[in-house]
Order: sequence, then structure tokens, then C-alpha cells
Amino acid sequence: MNTKRILLYYKYVSIADPQAIMLWQRELCTALNLSGRIVLATEGINGTVYGTIEQTNAYMVAMNDHELFGNIDFKDSLVNAEHEYFPGLQIKVKDEITNLGLDVNEVSTAHGGKHLSPAAFHEAIAQAGQNTIVLDGRNQYEAAVGAFKDAIVPPIDHFRDFPGYIDQNLDLFKDKEVLMYCTGGIRCERASAYLKLKGIAKEVYQLEGGIHRYAEQFPDGFFRGKNYVFDARIAVPVNDDILGTCALCSTSCDEFTNCLNAKCNKHFIGCPACVKTLENTCSEVCFQLVTEEKVPKRPMRQRIDPSLNNQPIL
Ligand SMILES: [Zn+2]
Ligand SMILES: [Zn+2]
Repeated sequence: MNTKRILLYYKYVSIADPQAIMLWQRELCTALNLSGRIVLATEGINGTVYGTIEQTNAYMVAMNDHELFGNIDFKDSLVNAEHEYFPGLQIKVKDEITNLGLDVNEVSTAHGGKHLSPAAFHEAIAQAGQNTIVLDGRNQYEAAVGAFKDAIVPPIDHFRDFPGYIDQNLDLFKDKEVLMYCTGGIRCERASAYLKLKGIAKEVYQLEGGIHRYAEQFPDGFFRGKNYVFDARIAVPVNDDILGTCALCSTSCDEFTNCLNAKCNKHFIGCPACVKTLENTCSEVCFQLVTEEKVPKRPMRQRIDPSLNNQPIL
């Protein structure tokens, strides 16, 4: 099978002119024929790029040669080259590289939690007592198909709601050692800073490299299920546990579907039987609306087998 590679990376670094970096990135990615999504802000860069092994190698070399972007920890996944994982190339300048919705100077990575390697994080969970809590730094729909054992999952659907969750649950963290994690580490950098700045937790730690790096070292460890990702793969299996349940019939399942009703577009877990019965809609209501052509249909997304993912390149 023909394989390509997805690179996931970020770097918090002061960028004086994100607009200029955006133009350079566009030139670089276009020249290398890469697709993906890159966000730039004065606080740094956050990217996912997709291409052949040679193209992605050349990208890493160019990044490493740039004065701002040396020593980036690129996480890679080999994927089946027959699929499209990104709808083209999207490069944007925003206020933040993850949407926490807070001033990048007031809540910065300088205040972030202590980094723990996957091995140290694993050990910390193994030794965890009454005063340790594991906190998911992601959205609830991501945790629905994969999470660390006994983790607290904030009931949020957007990262920008994380600070509000912390504010409303301060007592939960009082005098606790908090072990935080997210997909690749980027969100914890500032989410852990927010929690630390509250001055309520005894200590705040963050998993370096996120679930991605942990799963490479501990595929059968404390993380169970799938690692949710923001490309066409949707979720990458770490082990065989199925954490999710069908939103319609509660069968054990971890396959996401987007409602075919373009005006609903709900992202939900649906078992094959329910998805078939409701013809890719999320409910009887949406099924009727689509059947009676009262709403436009969303373009159907191709289902991609993510089984090749997370094989490290040596
Ligand atoms: Zn079902
Ligand atoms: Zn719907």
C-alpha cells in the first residue's frame, strides 16, 4: 500500500510578524505540495501537514533551518495515501494558536504546568493516591471515545469554555496534584497555566507530547480507546477498548457521523445499524427533514480506515 505521512506539531515562540511567516509557510507548503492546516499567532505556530515521506521530510528540514522553528517535536503518523485527509491547505493568522479565548500575555506558557514525559506521567498515574487527579484538557466528544482511566472530563464542547469550567469547579482542584493531558500537548500548555494561575492546586503537571506520544510508548497503558484527531481519520485507535455508546440506541460504539442535514451537521456517535436506518441523520426529525427535502444535504464524508496510524517512522 502507498503510504503518506501526517505531521502534527506546535511551538510556542514569540513571532513578531505572523503575517510574514504565513506568507513563507504558504510558499513552502505549496512548493512541497503539502496540504493541511496551520495557525499562526504572536504566541507561536500550530500545524498539521500531510504529504509524502520526502515532502514532509523537506518540510521538517526547512522548519528546523528557520531561526524561530528549530527543535520542534514533530509527531508523525503513516497513513494510506489513497485518501484525502485535509481539504487543501489552510494557513491563518489568529490571536491564539489554540482558541482558549484569553490574552496570550496574561495566560502564557511561561506559567504552564510541569512537563512530564510519557514514562513519568505513566508512573505518576500508577502511584496516584487520594490527592492526585487526572484532568482531560480536551472536549467531551473527544474523551467519549478515548481517555485516561478515571480522568475528569470537563463537560465542554469548545476549548474556550475550559477556563469557565475551572472557575466553576475550583474546589475540585484544591490542594490536588493535577495530571493534565490533551491530544498532542498544545492545549495543556496554556490550560495548565490557567489552572496554575488560580493558585488552588498543589501542583499542575502536563503530559509532554500528549496522548500521541504516550500511546507510542504505552499502547496498552492507562489511556484507553481512541485518540481523537482533527482530520479525516477522526479518531486513531490506541487499543481495542470501545468507550463510546451510540447516541441513538446506546450500543457500545465509537464511530462518529455528521448528520446529513446540513443545517444540523451534528457530530455524534452512531452505530452502523442506527446510521443505516436513519440514513446518516442524527434523529427522526432530521431524517424527515432530509427525506422531505426541506433542508440541504451535507456533502458525504469518506470513511477512512485509520488502522495504519501511529506507526513510528524509524
Ligand atoms: Zn445505535
Ligand atoms: Zn441532525
